[in-house]
Amino acid sequence: MTSETLTLPYLNPDLTVPARVADLLERMTLEEKVGQMLQLDARDDLDDHVLRRMVGSILHTSPERIVAARELTLQTRLQIPLLVGEDCVHGHSFWPGATIYPTQLGMAASWDASLLEKVARATAVEVAATGIHWTFSPVLCIARDLRWGRVNETFGEDPFLLGELASAMVRGYQGGGLEDPTAILATAKHFAGYSETQGGRDASEADISRRKLRSWFLPPFERVAREGCRSFMLGYQSMDGVPITLNDWLLSDVLRGEWGYTGTLITDWDNVGRMVWEQQVQPDVMHAAAAAVKAGNDMIMTTPTFFEGALDAVASGLLADDAFDAAVERILTLKFELGLFENPRTPVDGLEQIVGTAEHAALNLEMTRRSLVLLENDGVLPLSPAVPGGPLQPAAPGEPLSPAAPGGATRSAVTARVAVVGPLADDAQEQLGDWAGGSGQAGWLDGQPREMITTVLDGLREIAPWEIVHARGADILTLAPDPAGATWPDGQPRPPVVKPCAPDAAQIAEAVAAAEGADVCVAVVGDAQGLYGEGRSTATLELIGGQNALLEAVIETGTPVVVVLMASKPLVLPASVSKAAAVLWVANPGMQGGRAIAELLTGAVEPTGRLPISFVRHAGQQPTYYNQIRGQHGDRYADLTQSPAWAFGEGLSYTTVEYSDLVLEGAALAASDTVVADVTVTNTGDRPTVETVQLYVRDRVTSVSWADKELKAFRQVALAPGESTRVRMELPVADCTIVDAAGDRVVEAGEFALLVGPSSRDEVLLSEGFTVA
Ligand code: BGC
Repeated sequence: MTSETLTLPYLNPDLTVPARVADLLERMTLEEKVGQMLQLDARDDLDDHVLRRMVGSILHTSPERIVAARELTLQTRLQIPLLVGEDCVHGHSFWPGATIYPTQLGMAASWDASLLEKVARATAVEVAATGIHWTFSPVLCIARDLRWGRVNETFGEDPFLLGELASAMVRGYQGGGLEDPTAILATAKHFAGYSETQGGRDASEADISRRKLRSWFLPPFERVAREGCRSFMLGYQSMDGVPITLNDWLLSDVLRGEWGYTGTLITDWDNVGRMVWEQQVQPDVMHAAAAAVKAGNDMIMTTPTFFEGALDAVASGLLADDAFDAAVERILTLKFELGLFENPRTPVDGLEQIVGTAEHAALNLEMTRRSLVLLENDGVLPLSPAVPGGPLQPAAPGEPLSPAAPGGATRSAVTARVAVVGPLADDAQEQLGDWAGGSGQAGWLDGQPREMITTVLDGLREIAPWEIVHARGADILTLAPDPAGATWPDGQPRPPVVKPCAPDAAQIAEAVAAAEGADVCVAVVGDAQGLYGEGRSTATLELIGGQNALLEAVIETGTPVVVVLMASKPLVLPASVSKAAAVLWVANPGMQGGRAIAELLTGAVEPTGRLPISFVRHAGQQPTYYNQIRGQHGDRYADLTQSPAWAFGEGLSYTTVEYSDLVLEGAALAASDTVVADVTVTNTGDRPTVETVQLYVRDRVTSVSWADKELKAFRQVALAPGESTRVRMELPVADCTIVDAAGDRVVEAGEFALLVGPSSRDEVLLSEGFTVA
């Protein structure tokens, strides 16, 4: 920069942000403003993006390209720093050697907002140090159709749980404020209703009314908007014929109007282009660009021709010269608030002290332990009683466990033999799930370092004091090119199609031999890359490839089989599993997955996860989310129940917990009152636990049809063996709302039931009535 430019007001950190924004905006040409609204793919022609289209932001930037992009920026007239965005959705997904946590759905199973906040904070520390300023996380979509390929990216099916966890992650990412060099921008996505697909088909028209949006889909977004989440990303869906990119009601009336949101709004991938080539609701990119600008979008993701389209729109009178100012102001505000003009936040020195540290591995292990959901157990678990010296104690990642009893014998004695089978028992990259090194979104890395990942086989070998025998037993799938062609009209690759592998008799025989000679068999089965992710919804939910045949064969041996379901989303298990000794769902458990699972199997840690989403018994039984609307003929199918295989909120412990004496303090309440409930929770077994006490509300008579019950609060309490405690929960009557026929959220006077218990199943909930005047 010349000495003259150095004195320009927008470069003066002593001026206020609005003053700096106003000064810079005034200096920008039309082209520079249009470019500022663009976020382009850094894997393409970076020179062209920065020097010709003058982009405001890039995404999918390999470590080398972050530095190259900064250098290019310095060649531009105004040297406006780039905002660098990335999908750091369960850890710093695409950074080699970063900490990869369980997927968002896995983390949701912990029901532990404070732990998720810590994970988001630790992720932000890694992300910020590498020169990335903005994560496209968390996902606030409600997952109801399990066929959808992106269920793993969500917090599950319940808006309240989702709001709690999303808000915690936003706090974690954004830290103490944007001026903090470890803060990154959070993104609430995908605004709104994208998950309400037809037939689970990704990005299909969402058949969803405004009232339904207000009832369940918008509340979590409203919460994070009001709490200061700095960016919102759209989805791909259209509703009532209107692509979300042009949904004036949602973007202007609701988000910016009612909720007073002042943050930045970014489209999803090529939403502007898609209106032309995919949805065919705009004749060309000029019209699409003009419409997107008028609808209030600030940043246009990966539609390079938006640049030319928007300029043409001005030239032809579709847009006024100043049509871009509001958007550019908002983008520049973020850049000034992040302090990028003073410190462009490029990768710092000493990254190895910050990224993928032992401290983050320990946090990851804790997160993973809490994410595991024990669904069935005939008593085979925990396997630890055979350990000399008493139960094993958790330790830091990489360190061996030790027996709890002081002076007890160590793990040297081999007291049992464990067969570990299944295609996912030792597949390090599959274990990380989508949006991780091996999931294909980032070509510059082919997986995360093997030595950072513990598979189930590694974990058991590392900590279990038994002889371990391993056989793969089955393959899952191969991928073949889509017969319709390699690319979409916009040049993006079409996902390959899945070819299930046939059961292999020799593989199965090897696994059966291992199981026959063992005291227990751990079978790790599930889904794999290709069966989940964007554009990868599935028509079926069964285990594919040789997995069902494998399970049947090992269960047939009579050796107790522990099924570890390593699946991105709830799947349907074969009938043979009813004879398995235990079932554990682990989602995609991330780098510490094998270690945490081994600890749980051996009893070094307690199972405490609870389902954030229901499991179906058959794909055709969907949806089985618990908060269904009342009113249908009957309550089952002719050939199948409607009840889920495992319901929202469920999960077993190694102990038993009883609920009793639910008492409400006052049962006749006014709208301004708070319901105060006390319940006794008793650990009636001989192992410690963390119990998730869930509180639901049922509004007995509503002016319009409504969910039969809704989660309104939960608390986690640690209980030692035999311990009993009185748990107090408070619920403002103001939260006992429905959305009425006019679309307004209201509390309606009348009778309510307060339900408290360990899951959403009616059978296990204690109930007390109250009335609201
Ligand atoms: C996804 C978003 C993601 C974006 C950038 C889109 O296709 O829907 O969730 O943040 O790509 O990678």
